[in-house]
Amino acid sequence: MSKIAMKTPLVEMDGDEMTRIIWKMIKEILLEPYIELNTEYYNLGLTHRNETDDQVTVDSANATKKYGVAVKCATITPNAARMPEYNLKQMWKSPNGTIRAMLDGTVFRSPILVKGITPYIPTWTKPITIARHAYGDVYKNTEMVVKGGSKAELCVTNDDGTEERSLIHNFDGDGIIQGMHNLDSSISSFARACFNYALDLKQDIWFATKDTISKKYDHTFKDIFQDIFDNEYKEKFEKAGIEYFYTLIDDAVARVVRSEGGYIWACKNYDGDVMSDMIATAFGSLAMMTSVLVSPDGVYEYEAAHGTVQRHYYKHLKGEETSTNSVATLFAWSGALRKRGELDNTPDLCDFADKLEKATIKTIEDGVMTGDLYLISKLENKKKVNTREFLEEVNIRLKEMI
Ligand code: NAP
Ligand code: MG
Repeated sequence: MSKIAMKTPLVEMDGDEMTRIIWKMIKEILLEPYIELNTEYYNLGLTHRNETDDQVTVDSANATKKYGVAVKCATITPNAARMPEYNLKQMWKSPNGTIRAMLDGTVFRSPILVKGITPYIPTWTKPITIARHAYGDVYKNTEMVVKGGSKAELCVTNDDGTEERSLIHNFDGDGIIQGMHNLDSSISSFARACFNYALDLKQDIWFATKDTISKKYDHTFKDIFQDIFDNEYKEKFEKAGIEYFYTLIDDAVARVVRSEGGYIWACKNYDGDVMSDMIATAFGSLAMMTSVLVSPDGVYEYEAAHGTVQRHYYKHLKGEETSTNSVATLFAWSGALRKRGELDNTPDLCDFADKLEKATIKTIEDGVMTGDLYLISKLENKKKVNTREFLEEVNIRLKEMI
């Protein structure tokens, strides 16, 4: 059998800990035997980020802009505990934050539904897709610790040099402040990305903020969404028989819990971070979620929604057996390969990606799964396998399909 060729390189962003181990296994067991893998490799492992003063992260994002499609492994966002562990020069920023800020755009996250795993919320019979704005707010903030006796103000210096000031607080005691921003252009492309995705999936789209409390910041999000919807999408939505629905974030949470699913929920950056973990967990597992960043100029970055699974990695380092779920990382690869195939017009690659996903789902529906799913699957003949065995079982089914 000749291997599938790739015309354009895929940007490959390697990562950390258990997901880095899984990354290597996926390539070895499920990709390299079938594809003449053509990737431009960036090592985003924390050690290498530290060695390059995080330049490698910036380079990988620029390569993504150049080639159009990337696949990213989960990476450590350093905290205080990581400083001595990795002997870091500084507490480097979140690579995801850096990449998202450079690419702008929206992250779409959908649960992967399989037979045998029923959501914790039994009315959720259809997937709920989270559309997370990937630019600004608290992820691009400036924070300060302030001493008692100080006065904090917001100050904007206009183009003509004049200043506008607004009091934040007169501090009697010590405290903290935070400044954050967003851009009309980024919010607009977020809105268009969401409306386009809704038309693509033929699903309703919900959007929620806290505009009653945040009368300028959040209200601007609400207004921009409404303007773009009224002027550009209203008729298209009517034709498609779908709806745009705006409500307050707390009302949205209550409605989501009572819903049956089957819509897209557009969230501001932080809300999307939190709610996608809630949705993923409620649908079964953090590792059963696809995640793709779509930039306004049509650049795609596929990743897993979960982290580096640190606890499993430490077990792995001690030589103990692990049973870590690789599905989200696998779907990051299949999503990226399919998109590369679509852009390059190489249907073999798209077909391979489809089969890889089918083989993965079939493996779990045949009752072969990792520990996280074993705990919640309602299948009768289920079997728990380790990290490597799961990928080998997927390969058995993939071979049959090819
Ligand atoms: P995590 O890696 O998502 O893992 C949290 C827990 O969720 C795990 O301990 C495990 O539970 C379960 N879990 C997550 N993914 C799993 C999988 N694939 N298979 C089986 N179980 C899974 O989050 P974390 O441990 O809080 O964070 C570890 C590191 O990841 C941090 O350094 C953080 O900065 C980074 N992070 C990176 C990204 C990213 O790059 N996209 C996102 C989030 C966090 P049990 O231990 O109970 O089995
Ligand atoms: Mg998160």
